Amino acid sequence: MEQVSSTVTDTAEVMPGVHLMRIEAPGIACSVKPGQFITLQCGDLILRRPLSVHYVASPEIALLFRVAGKGTLWLSQRQPGDRVDILGPLGNGFSLPPGDSEQSQHLLLVAGGMGIAPLVFLTQYAASLHAITLVHGVSTASQLYPWAVGEKGSSAVAAGQRRLPTLPEGVRFVAVTEDGSAGQTGMATGILPDLLDGTDQVYACGPLSMYEAMAGVTYHSESRCSRDQESRGTREGLVSPHNLKLKRCQVSLEVRLGCGFGACYGCTIKTKKGLKRVCRDGPVFELDDIIWQEVRL
Ligand SMILES: Cc1cc2nc3c(=O)[nH]c(=O)nc-3n(C[C@H](O)[C@H](O)[C@H](O)COP(=O)(O)OP(=O)(O)OC[C@H]3O[C@@H](n4cnc5c(N)ncnc54)[C@H](O)[C@@H]3O)c2cc1C
Repeated sequence: MEQVSSTVTDTAEVMPGVHLMRIEAPGIACSVKPGQFITLQCGDLILRRPLSVHYVASPEIALLFRVAGKGTLWLSQRQPGDRVDILGPLGNGFSLPPGDSEQSQHLLLVAGGMGIAPLVFLTQYAASLHAITLVHGVSTASQLYPWAVGEKGSSAVAAGQRRLPTLPEGVRFVAVTEDGSAGQTGMATGILPDLLDGTDQVYACGPLSMYEAMAGVTYHSESRCSRDQESRGTREGLVSPHNLKLKRCQVSLEVRLGCGFGACYGCTIKTKKGLKRVCRDGPVFELDDIIWQEVRL
């Protein structure tokens, strides 16, 4: 882990309200693993803001972030040549199966909305070792991850797309939109039952409602959930939890963090293995270890 003042080398709005920023950070670029994150000092805000590493193009790292409030708005206004204070890599990322040819596995990656950010890095990292299906579920087509098309570095890659990665060869990308404007219609979790056969491990990053659907959490009137959450849970469509439990399923929890490195205990959650700090023990956990009824994002 290191804290460095790094130079922004490139920044662009690649989807409505979503920015891709490249930062020169050779130390972090050579040590970070998929699912790990960094924190940034955003202007004069007291708490640093966490962002997953989206991909690595050594000596640079890329971040993909949605403007959610003051911190990410400040970040979206940085220009190439500006310096940002970053700390990382932080947390424990995704665990991958061993990568020898005899043990090559089929990995199913499930991204809900901005959950695509760390899963692009995981896809790039694991694509040469394992078969990968990457599902991206969003509300509408303009929010789907805009992979660059054409060969890397070739003129077939449109100028505006050069900063985006291409989909690694052999990776199956499944687009799902709620409004049916592209790909399959529905929620990412709705199509999982069809993809679980032949899958060895599942990796997910997305909103709480997506995880609850994957964990097979049901809502009762006396539970903490509001009617709104109840209808969200129903809309997500419950994946047959028994099927999913047969697979190892790792999820990245994006709860609000305090310090980001384990000192303040502000992001502690209850798990079946005791109290855990999301920033230090996670953000990646086994789906089955989390006591979902207790999690508040
Ligand atoms: C480990 C980790 C990795 C993350 N990676 C990414 C990423 O790669 N890309 C990305 O766009 N976002 C990511 N996030 C979420 C991101 O950190 C927040 O959106 C950001 O901190 C909001 O800061 P802000 O000052 O812009 O907004 P604030 O003013 O702090 O908040 C604005 C709104 O955003 C909501 N919000 C704040 N923090 C979070 C959070 N952690 N998760 C969800 N909603 C939040 C608030 O409830 C509020 O409604 C990650 C969070 C964690 C914990």
